[in-house]
Amino acid sequence: MVDIGKNLDILRRGIAAAADRAGRDPGEVLILAVSKTIPLEVIREAAEAGQVHFGENRVQEARDKIPLLPSGLTWHLVGHLQSNKAKYCPDLFSWIHSIDSTALAREVARRYRESSAVCRALIQVNVSGEDAKFGCSPDETPGILSVLLEEDATEPVGLMTMPPFTDDPEDARPHFRSLRVLRDRLVGEGYPKENLRELSMGMTGDFEVAVEEGATIVRIGTAIFGPRGL
Ligand SMILES: *Cc1c(COP(=O)(O)O)cnc(C)c1O
Repeated sequence: MVDIGKNLDILRRGIAAAADRAGRDPGEVLILAVSKTIPLEVIREAAEAGQVHFGENRVQEARDKIPLLPSGLTWHLVGHLQSNKAKYCPDLFSWIHSIDSTALAREVARRYRESSAVCRALIQVNVSGEDAKFGCSPDETPGILSVLLEEDATEPVGLMTMPPFTDDPEDARPHFRSLRVLRDRLVGEGYPKENLRELSMGMTGDFEVAVEEGATIVRIGTAIFGPRGL
């Protein structure tokens, strides 16, 4: 049986050490527990251990699980969002990390507006330019950010990236650094700092490197819940 409370403690210590190496305050880093494929009772155990922010990567799975879990939790969509599923999001998620086109930004805004809700939105950027399935190019980021700023139902809060998968966490460092540099460039161009304050980057295999490079949200599944044996 996985001890969630202990895993969270170990994770917090790893984040604190990485923040320390970078001269950062560990309190700036939010742990987002990614609970995809994890059974309800295990998610409840994490909530009882004090975890508040949870992420799911598929809308359908979130629709099945979230209504059955305690209502005080804050849910983030971290996976790809198809436009036709956006209508389900206002009831489920207060944050979406995967906005990667102006069309999707507008559709999310329309759906949250209809529900009189506000979506905290992060733009998913494919900083490497390598063929990734999702994420906009750095050049597309200002256009998407402008839409999110213009719409009342979306509050842009930052950027997200998913580097190509490798075994060596150091391979992710240039991608994390590029996301931070892109954020700094946008702020330099006059986009409001508070709308670019979050950098959602780093997972179980590479969160320490991500924190060293400025992550403010680390998206962690395996290090909290154990391996997803599917
Ligand atoms: C599954 C997932 C994570 C967490 O992955 P782990 O390696 O288990 O920590 C983070 N972000 C996204 C988008 C995911 O789908």
